Amino acid sequence: MKIKVDKELCIGCQTCVASCPESFQINEEGKSVAISQDEFPCTMKAVATCPVGAISVTREE
Ligand code: SF4
Repeated sequence: MKIKVDKELCIGCQTCVASCPESFQINEEGKSVAISQDEFPCTMKAVATCPVGAISVTREE
């Protein structure tokens, strides 16, 4: 799967990192970045908890 964080939308609240540190990390700009393209059990939960909908997921068929 392809996981992408929209840096313009991300407010750096760290909710996704708290929900799923396997998938997300806060970078030096204070924004979240996807650190893996693998799906972990917590990945979609983290995507759903983003308050601004900054994380997009594309599944490759
Ligand atoms: S939950 Fe959303 S707004 Fe908050 S750090 Fe993660 S991507 Fe950014």
